[in-house]
Amino acid sequence: MVTLDRKDLAKYPFLKESQSYIGTISSSLEQYLQSPGGKHAIKEASTTMQCALSFNGRELPPLPDIPPDAESITNIIASYPVSRIIVSCAQDRVLIDRLVRYQSWLVFAFLQDESSYVKRFIRKSIGLPETGTEISVTDYIPVASRMQEERWRLINRVVIRGKVRVAPLEYDEIVRERLRYVMARNLPIKVPSSICELLQPEVDNIKTEWQKHILEEFGKVEESAFPPCMQAILGAIAGQGHLTHMARFAISAFLHNIGMENTRIIELYGNVQNFDLRKTMYQVEHISGRGGTSTEYISPQCATMRTHGICIHPDSLCQKINHPLTYYKQKKREISKKNLKSTSEQKGSRQILDKAGTKKSESGGDSSNQIPSRADGGNKDEQGT
Ligand code: SF4
Repeated sequence: MVTLDRKDLAKYPFLKESQSYIGTISSSLEQYLQSPGGKHAIKEASTTMQCALSFNGRELPPLPDIPPDAESITNIIASYPVSRIIVSCAQDRVLIDRLVRYQSWLVFAFLQDESSYVKRFIRKSIGLPETGTEISVTDYIPVASRMQEERWRLINRVVIRGKVRVAPLEYDEIVRERLRYVMARNLPIKVPSSICELLQPEVDNIKTEWQKHILEEFGKVEESAFPPCMQAILGAIAGQGHLTHMARFAISAFLHNIGMENTRIIELYGNVQNFDLRKTMYQVEHISGRGGTSTEYISPQCATMRTHGICIHPDSLCQKINHPLTYYKQKKREISKKNLKSTSEQKGSRQILDKAGTKKSESGGDSSNQIPSRADGGNKDEQGT
């Protein structure tokens, strides 16, 4: 029999033991959210959301401080369901996915320094074997399907009698991904409109933050930085060519990922043969995570694009990347560097021209030896106009 202390409950708020701990704090959710404790929990949930939006999903997130007093612990645990309510009110699959990814990684980070009996307890609570080095194929597939590395693919694992072998060091990663799956399974939850109205400022806030995050990450949409594959698909759209389902998915997800508004994406499809506005709207909303699906849609990796025959005209930059979004980021950086360089060159020429003008007027003599010929020519043009 495992006894969890208050700190454990705050570290693992998804456990039913944690939820029972706060189960009696108020007779109604609406009342609680308006109470001082509820307001703290909302604030805590908003902070969690901010962290979730900026979390990259590659390194361990910094662990939050957990004060020992009962009141703070209650607020931290209560912020877990509150954050789930906020993303449910937002009705945005991307936000849901960001939240559960961050929360599952937080648990993963706590597990790195956890006692073996608590680890066993957590595994059991999410339906994984407490000990051992194998899990059933049915449990493994939804977990591994989200992991990018080749080692997680079923064909690269040892499977014996329906059980997949997992190395002891990999087990926490399995727990993390299983948790992510379990946490996302029931989201979005149905929230009464009165509660969503109460949380509307937080909902608006995270939506704005997310938009800002996308803009910061990708900046304004720069078509000249699109990878060749996406340019080709856009070319096909403009030329009313036939598009496979995968090509439509790839371009819609790509455009959504770099921050293009859904309405703009839908407009682009206006040229496609047999354009069906309702169907297109549904597909684009679905891809952008607003259609009530359970997946965050990221445009496919280059390997998948190749498999589907839509990796078109790869260029030299393509050899250094494995995702069209990486191509876009790098190319955009290159373009802005070039622009910056040519702006400073132009500035430089202008300064030389200015200097030249000053020298001439200062000395009244010939300063052509000090002026490069291009600038000289430019000066002449200016004078001629
Ligand atoms: S290598 Fe990747 S980015 Fe380049 S064209 Fe192919 S799919 Fe697109």
